[in-house]
Amino acid sequence: MSINFPLKGGCACGAIEFECHADPVFFFLCHCVDCRKATGSVYAPNVWFYNEAVKITKEPAAHLEKSIAGDDVRHEFCPDCGTPIGMSTAANPKMRGFRASCFEDLQGLEPIASIWISTKLPWEKLDPSLPQFETQPTREEFMKLIGRE
Ligand SMILES: [Zn+2]
Ligand SMILES: [Zn+2]
Repeated sequence: MSINFPLKGGCACGAIEFECHADPVFFFLCHCVDCRKATGSVYAPNVWFYNEAVKITKEPAAHLEKSIAGDDVRHEFCPDCGTPIGMSTAANPKMRGFRASCFEDLQGLEPIASIWISTKLPWEKLDPSLPQFETQPTREEFMKLIGRE
């Protein structure tokens, strides 16, 4: 099934709306502690796009965390209703991630891996059809996952 473009999404109150006009670069289910806290969920469904593929009506608020590599990571949310919107990282400034739960139509959006499963909640059952990574995939593993090895 293919994606219906533009892929539209937004927060619960409507203060922030966005559209994505090209295929995502990758879509990971992230079980890291920061993503879990930022979304209030067992994992964050993070769909990443190149910046130029994205239009957003208003920049979200954000709180900053540090990645294990020491890079700034922004976990973004609507300042009015608190909806988790997405994330971005100083290590990868050409892209931004959106939480898949914000999209109106999820057709064609499929995660390609579960990451940071070393910090998943003990009772969570992982999808066995997805590749799993204890933490972050290495650059080599990442290129293979997105089909650019
Ligand atoms: Zn809102
Ligand atoms: Zn994460």
